[in-house]
Amino acid sequence: MLALFVIGGVSAQDVDDASDILLVDSPSQVNIDVNYEFTNDNGKITPTFDAVNATVESQDYDSANKYYNVKVNSTQASDKLNISISAPGYLSQYKLFDANGASPVKVDMIASDAYKLGHDVTARADALLNFKEADAVLAITTAGVPKLNGKTSEAAFDGILNYATDYISYGRGNILMLRQTAVDPIDFCFVVKKGTELTAAIFLNGKTEEVYLGTISEYMTTSQWNALFKAVGGENAFSFASLANGWYDGVTFDVLQEAAFHGHICEGTLGGYTITKALLQYYPPIQETGNGLQSPGDITSYKVLGIPGDSSNDAVIFFLDATSGKTSYVGFNTTSTGATENMIGFIRWNGQTNKGTIIVMEYDSDANKALFEKETGITGDGSLEQLKYNTWWINRIYDNPASLVNILIEKENLTKEQYLYLVGVTDDDDDGEGHVINATNSHGLDYAYIQSLDLPNATRDNVIAHKGSLTYDDFKAIGQQAAKTAIDIYENELGVKIRKDMPNLMVMTSAGYVMINEQSTEGCWDGLFEELGSRLSRKTLLPDHKAIWTPLWFNFILKQDDGSLMSIYMRYNADGTFYVGQYNGSKVYNINMTTLNNSAISGGISKEAYIDGNYFSIQSISNAWSAEPSFEQIMSFLFHNHACPGVQPGFFIVDYIQENFPLNENQSYIYIANEQYCKDDSLEYILDVSPGLGNYLVQKLTSDEYKGADDLDEEGILIIWDSANNIGQAVSISYQWPSPDLSGYVTSESKRAAQIQAFIDLYNGNENPILTENYHKVAHNDSRWITEEQLQTILSGGEGSSLKYLRSLDDISKEDLLKQIAEKNNQNNKEESNGTNTNTNTDSNTNTDSNANSNAQSNSNANANPSSTQQAIPSRTTTQSSYSSVGVSSSPVRTSTQASEDTSSESSDETPSDEKSSDSSKSYEIEKKPVSKSGDNNLVYAVIGALIIGALFGVGYMKTRKD
Ligand SMILES: [Zn+2]
Ligand SMILES: [Zn+2]
Repeated sequence: MLALFVIGGVSAQDVDDASDILLVDSPSQVNIDVNYEFTNDNGKITPTFDAVNATVESQDYDSANKYYNVKVNSTQASDKLNISISAPGYLSQYKLFDANGASPVKVDMIASDAYKLGHDVTARADALLNFKEADAVLAITTAGVPKLNGKTSEAAFDGILNYATDYISYGRGNILMLRQTAVDPIDFCFVVKKGTELTAAIFLNGKTEEVYLGTISEYMTTSQWNALFKAVGGENAFSFASLANGWYDGVTFDVLQEAAFHGHICEGTLGGYTITKALLQYYPPIQETGNGLQSPGDITSYKVLGIPGDSSNDAVIFFLDATSGKTSYVGFNTTSTGATENMIGFIRWNGQTNKGTIIVMEYDSDANKALFEKETGITGDGSLEQLKYNTWWINRIYDNPASLVNILIEKENLTKEQYLYLVGVTDDDDDGEGHVINATNSHGLDYAYIQSLDLPNATRDNVIAHKGSLTYDDFKAIGQQAAKTAIDIYENELGVKIRKDMPNLMVMTSAGYVMINEQSTEGCWDGLFEELGSRLSRKTLLPDHKAIWTPLWFNFILKQDDGSLMSIYMRYNADGTFYVGQYNGSKVYNINMTTLNNSAISGGISKEAYIDGNYFSIQSISNAWSAEPSFEQIMSFLFHNHACPGVQPGFFIVDYIQENFPLNENQSYIYIANEQYCKDDSLEYILDVSPGLGNYLVQKLTSDEYKGADDLDEEGILIIWDSANNIGQAVSISYQWPSPDLSGYVTSESKRAAQIQAFIDLYNGNENPILTENYHKVAHNDSRWITEEQLQTILSGGEGSSLKYLRSLDDISKEDLLKQIAEKNNQNNKEESNGTNTNTNTDSNTNTDSNANSNAQSNSNANANPSSTQQAIPSRTTTQSSYSSVGVSSSPVRTSTQASEDTSSESSDETPSDEKSSDSSKSYEIEKKPVSKSGDNNLVYAVIGALIIGALFGVGYMKTRKD
């Protein structure tokens, strides 16, 4: 029911069957005075009028009288018009109007809860911090995916931005969305910079009363830090402070955005960034490749081998767009092979030559820390030192990033068998020359294996990037120019007049992710907003996660009443001009389902208009957007960079996890992917787990292993870890695919789109014609209560297969396991002479280090603190990993639920059954653990035990709602 605004009646546009709309009646009209709850919004937000059983033909604002004149064409003779009024951030109103009534009727628009919260919190922050007097303002919030009164809370952004229009905007890069889950609290942190002062006002748990007002500068005193820590909690304190100080230091927006995904800025964030820069300098991307089993969108230039727990993993995945859901990340604890947590491996695979380059790099944490101490004289492991260490890094990453990292291995001519040994292959494959490669679980960053490869040294390129001189205003102008060009094309070619704040006009763009001459491009968003009112929080501006070296492009979609998605593609060229895509001589063309179901038209548009190869990402997300998915789904699609049916099981799996295994205090999730496909990106994004946080790992298994009974696929192992008792519950999460009726669709693209829509309907609780029976099913099996040692074995890949290992464990009750542990501890205590103060967790502390931060925080504290019963940081046991491939077994071609009569070689990714990779090993690192260890404050030590655990396992319990 989106209104179509046309100039002079019916648009003579596009699609063949649109021309049979005949408007017989003469228009009725009403005058509507729209009054917003926040009066400041009056005249600034353009409402949208829609008519039930009729068409809104035009809406003109009478600025003298301050009302809208709305003309409606109705085919029914009636003296009443049923009109809806909607506006971003406000609840839609429905009202009956007298047709042709002359005097204006007033409509009061009520703000949504999230909008109101965002607005009120910002107003309070302004009262406390005085934005007007500040040099600059920063807003950080968890709003978005977290729910407020049962609904996602992205409208809070509109509340912030509309209140603080002069100070905060997406395009200025000074509003950051911290990734959180639906059940996490909605928090806000506002920061003002004034000279060298950084002052924050912090609001937690959706409250409009501040819990903290004071300095957030890295130069604060220890007691000031402790006040912050006490008021907001350790994780929040480090998260907000690291982002605020990084912003103050002038870190570029791409880094801030990655840090918001990760949760904070830390050494790993900066280390991952520098590794990325060095990689692009010496081994620039050559070709994007996939594994042939999924959708055309599941291709990347690099495959990443990492050890989860080091924050740099998240950074690399983010900047290279090498996500797990695109099967481009494999990692578990492989430290037993000689790898360390600061290492990351990259494979630049060329699917045409069947050869690859393998590179292993590390950022040398110890050496950098030593240099920092030498140069600054700052020593110590507290959070404040960590913040200063961040600043030191930031000041060098733009100078000579390669100097901060070591390249350990650079080899060429990696064979397909070697490649698949590392990333895993679910079913038997061949090397293209008749040699069979057996299915194998993935081995990840198996350093001993990689070192043993007898391959020639690779030759470095040396691509030096030079920083351009474009300003925020220049990028904003680029966005404006793109928007104006689109407005002209819609008017000239379709006769459609575009106005601001239209809910049926959506812009997709790579702006905000890609770099132009080493400059981040988020400024374009403000230009788009200025012309069109497009915003992410309104679901009308969708920034697509793309690798940083890819082109800057904009795609405009106008959804019309008949469901057409009228699309315009343009790419910005470095010389300041735009390339505008054309199909059959037209700059605007329909890319909805009708097109997708016609391979000649769809293929023609893809080839002629989308010369940068973005068609799949754009058409899939545009069609998904058209089906009105919820905000967390949109964010997942964007993180994955396209929509596909393969992403969607993640929504249901996460819901299932949150419903069946809700977290209590001291609990957190860890997930090990056993079958890896698109859904891993949605699962990762909305469960708020990731390799860099150490709570998302990938050990792909062969299809023989992950295929469960009754057509269930064993997707991965979920562990609900209880840091208070130092035990966990581990279960295998399984998923059964639905059997949609796709007989009405002839191409793989339309089949995919139909399934995406069916999943969205299913999620929204709506009927869908292709899902009539056999709905999908999420389940869990093989539940076991596990000890810390068993956890470590699972995280190390379970001696070849985490799933097999899990199943081999005794199924004993929680009570019995706790009893066993208590008995063991008693025994140990007796054996030990009570005099020695041996810290049983020796190991654990070491792990902690792994992270960049580590130095800063935790370990030392842990040790120092005698009352450390709590600090059971899982020690990384050194499980032996063997090089022999584990799952040798030929297995049938992956079954696909989807019929595939369709020619396309890409098999539908709707069937995720395809891939998996396995590997084993694990590792754990502590992550952000901001605690000052300076001795003058006991408070710090008191909190530390709990903090370390939270840190270790990611964010889980720290952020659960406490009110
Ligand atoms: Zn980190
Ligand atoms: Zn996909």
